[in-house]
Amino acid sequence: MTRTSATADPIELLAGPGLLSSEEREIQLTVRRFVADRIRPGIGKWFEEGVFPQEIAVELGALGLLGMHLEGYGCAGTNAVSYGLACMELEAADSGLRSFVSVQGSLAMFAIRRFGSEEQRRQWLPRMAAGEAIGCFGLTEPDFGSNPAGMRTTARRDGDDWVLDGTKMWITNGGIADVAVVWARTDDGIRGFLVPRGTPGFATNDIHSKLSMRASVTSELVLDRCRLPADAVLPEAHGLGGPLACLNEARFGIVFGVLGAARDCLTAALEYSVTRQQFDRPIAGFQLTQEKLTNMSLELVKGYLLALRLGRLKDEGSLRAEQVSAGKLNNVREAIAIAREARTILGANGVTLEYPVLRHANNLESVLTYEGTSEIHTLVVGQALTGISAYR
Ligand SMILES: Cc1cc2nc3c(=O)[nH]c(=O)nc-3n(C[C@H](O)[C@H](O)[C@H](O)COP(=O)(O)OP(=O)(O)OC[C@H]3O[C@@H](n4cnc5c(N)ncnc54)[C@H](O)[C@@H]3O)c2cc1C
Repeated sequence: MTRTSATADPIELLAGPGLLSSEEREIQLTVRRFVADRIRPGIGKWFEEGVFPQEIAVELGALGLLGMHLEGYGCAGTNAVSYGLACMELEAADSGLRSFVSVQGSLAMFAIRRFGSEEQRRQWLPRMAAGEAIGCFGLTEPDFGSNPAGMRTTARRDGDDWVLDGTKMWITNGGIADVAVVWARTDDGIRGFLVPRGTPGFATNDIHSKLSMRASVTSELVLDRCRLPADAVLPEAHGLGGPLACLNEARFGIVFGVLGAARDCLTAALEYSVTRQQFDRPIAGFQLTQEKLTNMSLELVKGYLLALRLGRLKDEGSLRAEQVSAGKLNNVREAIAIAREARTILGANGVTLEYPVLRHANNLESVLTYEGTSEIHTLVVGQALTGISAYR
């Protein structure tokens, strides 16, 4: 009737050891320990109060987790699988924490690393890798989410300067960012700009009353005749391919990350089910509960094997965008289903912040929508299968 120690980690139980190198495993366990010491004790309170613990940024930097799969400029330069595993362990604590790391490393730092000038890289990347400077990534607008090509934010030349006008919406880290990567329409197509905090004409407004991602800052960015010097533009990014390349990086982290949230929910449900007694026996002893736990474990381990496969392809340099879409679509969909199923096993206790399951489920509602909605990723895979675009 009691659980063996092997079942503490359903992934280990069903997929077995040996899929990771010793270095990858070490990175995973280091992040897991950090999360246990520094995040788990406070996360319920931070979520309830709607705050992101900003002091964590330098600790994440010291661990090498910010821009960790980027090379040079103070970045750790790990492989993609290690980065994915770190995302998984961070998101096992809370999707808001993983979002912070994704936006900092895969969106803001990646944009500067891939598309920035040498001077821009030197100015921002070492401090961002250390967590001393925070970045955000402004693509979405109030009227343009899934279709960023329609964006209304403009950047026009005035002498050597650029002048930006427009509004970005739902921007993670916006209110705490030292630098915003802002995408705007120019005479020359869509370009990216680095907008430092405090630039006249640039303001942020945090979005409150969220029922999801409460331990994460989400903001509006307002650009009102915001004047920037000529060298504020990212010289190597031309067209929508620039921001989409960044999003692909962040989506890869999500493929792994959400499995952490799902694993945390499954673990909570397993632990609860062996101790909670109804009808004079643990609820884990009922076949209906075991079916739920089994099905959740199967989806978790399938998602993990898919994530690992995509990680290996990324490390080989052959990962394609539709494969990332398939991974994001599947793993977020299954993670949210696992979180909701876990909630049922916890009964009424499952709706409280005493347990992580509904917090994870609520966070995953945002993950289902950001970095490309599940519908959009369905269409990406559908187009890859049929050769026909169904967006319009
Ligand atoms: C917590 C949070 C953090 C975020 N952080 C950032 C950030 O840091 N930076 C940033 O730029 N953005 C960020 N976003 C914004 C996010 O990327 C957008 O919300 C997302 O792209 C969807 O856009 P939308 O909300 O405008 O929905 P819409 O695009 O209006 O979509 C609404 C619905 O219509 C569906 N739909 C749209 N087009 C089609 C179609 N062709 N076929 C079928 N269905 C379709 C969608 O799938 C969705 O179900 C964040 C969002 C959240 C919630």
